[in-house]
Amino acid sequence: MEIAVVQLRCKRCNHMWHPRKSEVRICPKCKSPYWDKEKKYVYGRKRIR
Ligand SMILES: [Zn+2]
Repeated sequence: MEIAVVQLRCKRCNHMWHPRKSEVRICPKCKSPYWDKEKKYVYGRKRIR
């Protein structure tokens, strides 16, 4: 018998955990709701000609 283990990794703090709920909204460690998304680096706006 094999059990599929879902392991999630926070892209912010690199914390890995196994979710108990199917829907994970925040990282259990850093509490970031954006754990699933890459950091968006917003520098100054580039002017494109
Ligand atoms: Zn995190």
